[in-house]
Amino acid sequence: MNNQKPENNKKKNHIIWISIGVALVAIAFMTIFIILMNQPNENEISYTELLTKISDGEVEKIEMTVGSTSVKVKLKDVEEEKKAIVPSTQAFIELIQEEKVNKNSDIDLIQKPQNGLLTFSAGFLQILPTLLLVALIILVFKMQGLGDNGKVYDETATKVKVKFDDVAGLKEEKQELIEIVEFLKNPEKFTKMGAKIPRGVLLYGKPGTGKTLIAKAIAGEAGVPFISMSGSEFIELFAGLGASRVRKLFEKARKMSPCIVFIDEIDAIGARRSAGNGAESENNQTLNQLLVEMDGFDTDETIIVLAATNRPEMLDKALLRPGRFDRQITVQIPDLRGREEILKIHAKEKKFAEDVNLKNIAEDTAGLTGAELANILNEAAIIATVNQHTAIEEQDIEEAVKKVTVGLQKVSRVYSEKDKKITAYHEAGHAIVSRYLPTQENVKEISIIPRGMAGGYTMYKSNEDKNYIEKTELEERLVALMGGRAAEYIIFHDISTGAANDIEVATEIAKNMVTVYGMSSLVGNISINTEKDPYELQILGEKFGDAIGAEIKLLLDGAYIKAQSIIKEHMEQLEIIAQTLLKKETIGEEEFENILKEQ
Ligand code: ADP
Ligand code: MG
Ligand code: ZN
Repeated sequence: MNNQKPENNKKKNHIIWISIGVALVAIAFMTIFIILMNQPNENEISYTELLTKISDGEVEKIEMTVGSTSVKVKLKDVEEEKKAIVPSTQAFIELIQEEKVNKNSDIDLIQKPQNGLLTFSAGFLQILPTLLLVALIILVFKMQGLGDNGKVYDETATKVKVKFDDVAGLKEEKQELIEIVEFLKNPEKFTKMGAKIPRGVLLYGKPGTGKTLIAKAIAGEAGVPFISMSGSEFIELFAGLGASRVRKLFEKARKMSPCIVFIDEIDAIGARRSAGNGAESENNQTLNQLLVEMDGFDTDETIIVLAATNRPEMLDKALLRPGRFDRQITVQIPDLRGREEILKIHAKEKKFAEDVNLKNIAEDTAGLTGAELANILNEAAIIATVNQHTAIEEQDIEEAVKKVTVGLQKVSRVYSEKDKKITAYHEAGHAIVSRYLPTQENVKEISIIPRGMAGGYTMYKSNEDKNYIEKTELEERLVALMGGRAAEYIIFHDISTGAANDIEVATEIAKNMVTVYGMSSLVGNISINTEKDPYELQILGEKFGDAIGAEIKLLLDGAYIKAQSIIKEHMEQLEIIAQTLLKKETIGEEEFENILKEQ
């Protein structure tokens, strides 16, 4: 299993040693150079001396030329001025100013503008050796760190306080994991019975769905140490290091057993091993080591390995074999009830106004993860504080939802009249088009206030959690997405970059319709995942690939045409919504319907 390549390792080791050697010689050289250069004569004081004198209050005046690191120092009871070299002008100025603030020091700091270009290069040359030295020292320290002879990895082995009660929702997930808790608490009971407990459990799920949280909760419930590490930490410069880190991690785990080992982002090490390209990569050695460790568990070792990933399709199949991560649990994004429970947990230490209803927030946040919900409540508390409210109010939460979902409100961003106009018609286009599409949700808010990357936004109501989406709905979603660009084209006879994100989202949906959901009759019920298998398309043939492209284009073109025709049918409505937006910047749900009714 463990086919490391020794020649390869040796070569890399040589490189390390040569680099360290070169660095040491260079450091010695630089140090001598610096000592020589900074050799103080009677008229010169060293930098450390200068600092002492400043803090002792012995300095009366410092004169410096901007860009030069050589300064003139006037000491209080010394007649002639001294010279000193400071490492960096900016840092030095800050230091003196700080000193002044802290100690009421009375140094006069006189800064003279630089006259003549040459002073700059002289100043720079003087600090150059220092900079190089610092860079080298950092480099050497880094290399030693990587040299695999110490505590190089950032792992934590701690008793955790998190309990299952701190994990909201995720009922089925918890149900599946409870037996692991029992096992960790009382392993003999299970072994006596001859029961086989999974060694490894893989948690699949989007970022922020609570994978780390639930892993910790298992350790917390069982009262065992939680040793964690992130897969990305294994990806290192020098061969063999990842593997040795894995070895150390498990050495530690064996000492602390019973315990939980948690490997976050396991896809970083557990990515599919590339077949047949000769050289084993660093990744593969690390992965091999992990497999060796997991296969080598003794029956009396009570260690459970939990791993998390949001890219299950990337994982090497070898990881999923019996005795390894043979149990896989999908950690779902929360449904309506889950969201309400998560909000409840995170609302505990916060103060809310009486009319705040967490259920309403849950209804408005379909599709958001636990981490995002926690973030919303935290943001709401910040916003309430800024607004000087005594408790978190409904409007603070609404603002927080917007902040987290659409990005930060950027009122200060410079925004030309032309941009505003394009945005107004673009957003009005989305709103009008989706209003006349039966499957699309009602508009909740339209705005031309820029948020995050978006120039404006149209928010839709989403008070329904759905498992399945029909083809018609996806098609109409494409039409709604094209509404912005279609309106721009009809009004200005030109199009803008403002639709980039709409097009990106639409393309993704259309691609999935054709290659994942089997919604194109020409292509048929075939799932094509080139990420999983780059050769899949080659097997199916070039013509097939062409057909896929044509079908995706057809969907997108059709949606654009449909969007245009809806807008042309409702030009007055588009006009009045866009004009209202230009006046008021934001239109709410009720107002939107009222304006249209008056038409
Ligand atoms: P993941 O590991 O899946 O990326 P985390 O476990 O790190 O997600 O979740 C981040 C944070 O989001 C948690 O610390 C917690 O505050 C919150 N959170 C996520 N899911 C839940 C949940 N089901 N219940 C309570 N809080 C949650
Ligand atoms: Mg995590
Ligand atoms: Zn748009």
